[in-house]
Amino acid sequence: MAVVVKKVELNWVDRTYVIPVLKGMAITIGHFFRQIFTPSRKRFTVQYPDWKREPAPGFRGLHELKRFEDGSIKCVACFMCAEACPARCITIEADEFGDLNRLQGFAEKRPKNFQIDMLRCIYCGMCEEACPKDAIWLRSDYEQASYDRLGMLFGKWDLMNTYADKDGKARITQDPTPSVPRAPGKA
Ligand code: SF4
Ligand code: SF4
Repeated sequence: MAVVVKKVELNWVDRTYVIPVLKGMAITIGHFFRQIFTPSRKRFTVQYPDWKREPAPGFRGLHELKRFEDGSIKCVACFMCAEACPARCITIEADEFGDLNRLQGFAEKRPKNFQIDMLRCIYCGMCEEACPKDAIWLRSDYEQASYDRLGMLFGKWDLMNTYADKDGKARITQDPTPSVPRAPGKA
C-alpha cells in the first residue's frame, strides 16, 4: 500500500532556523554544565587512557594461549580453532614432542607456530568454543595498536606472554615450554 507523505510547509519563522538553532545550543550548553557539575567518576566521558571502563561480562577481547602450571602450552595443534574460525585468520604449524617425551607417554603435538591476524579477527569467540583443550581464551583486554600491519600478526609468544601482567609489560622472555613436559595425569 502506498504511503502518502504529508508535505510540511515552513512559515517564515521556521525558515530562519533561529529557534531550532537556539534549541540545539540549549541542549549542548545543558550537557556542558551537567558534565562540569557531575562527579568525575560518573561522567559519560571517560578520560581514557587514565581511566578505563570495566568491560561487560562476556566481553571478547584479545586472545591468549593458555599454559599449564609448569609453563607448557596447553594447545595440542589440533587445528579445530583454525577450522572453526569464520575469518580464516588463524595459522598453525604443528610440531611433535621429542623422543624423550614420547618415551614418557606424551604423544601429543604442540604448535611450532601459532599466528592470529588480529586485523582480520572479528572477535566472535568461535576458536574458544571449538578448542577441545580449553587452550585458547578471549580475554577482557582490548588495547592493541601497531605502526604497521605486520605488528598485528600475533605469534605464539605474543599470544602466550604479552598479557602475562595486567599492564602487559612483563613479558616472559624464555621459552616456557619445558624440555620435560608436565607429569602424566596433570590436567
Ligand atoms: S575470535 Fe573468531 S575471528 Fe577471531 S580468531 Fe577466534 S574464531 Fe577467528
Ligand atoms: S588452540 Fe585449541 S583448538 Fe586450536 S589448535 Fe590448539 S588445542 Fe586445537
